[in-house]
Amino acid sequence: MRRIGLIGGMSWESTAEYYRLLNTLVAQRLGGLHSADLLLASVDFAVVEQMQSQGRWDDAAALLVREARVLEAGGADFLVLCTNTMHKLADRVQAAVGIDLLHLADATAEAVVASGVRRVGLLGTRFTMEQDFYTDRLRGHGLDVVVPGADDRRLVDTVIYDELCRGVVREQSRREYERVVAALVDEGCAAVVLGCTEIELLLDPSERPAGAPLFATTRLHCEAAVDRALAP
Ligand code: GLU
Repeated sequence: MRRIGLIGGMSWESTAEYYRLLNTLVAQRLGGLHSADLLLASVDFAVVEQMQSQGRWDDAAALLVREARVLEAGGADFLVLCTNTMHKLADRVQAAVGIDLLHLADATAEAVVASGVRRVGLLGTRFTMEQDFYTDRLRGHGLDVVVPGADDRRLVDTVIYDELCRGVVREQSRREYERVVAALVDEGCAAVVLGCTEIELLLDPSERPAGAPLFATTRLHCEAAVDRALAP
């Protein structure tokens, strides 16, 4: 089994979910007492969030590169960056190490394309929805990507930082997210990508709000990581 290097803590609420899913998936595939071989570098999210909101992306890149190198030196065979947003810096992290970074948007896009969906909605932080690092990566796989309107983007982003990243799950916010998903479906989206690793704490993909499949990026990333870890 290959050793997975997780760069987490952004936020730890979803990194805990990565840890649970990776171990669950390895146990399901190998049986018995098997669990994932992994290293976790978990950062202080308050520091990262300040860098994001102040646009200090060079500082954020330096922080992620430092953690990636720690994981590489610790024997990680490949890296998993446990946040969609910080994939803004994925290329810089990848360039700084000699091991692969398993890109979250690629793992997600491959699953969406394999399902036959072409036009897909995207929920995430304001960075993920409004900047091109993530939407362009999805579009590079042939997807037509739609994001919510400005008011709904603000709502989705606020719930992520003020609630989900603090472990707060509110019924009112679930209903608002379901409304935003329904609006994306009304715009012709055949599915919606939950492009923030905390959204799965709020929306359950098996419930299919508005009848549309939801692509849960934390789960998809973990499945891709376990495929990689257990590949012959
Ligand atoms: N975990 C989130 C994501 O997947 C948001 C937190 C962050 O800004 O890294 O984008």
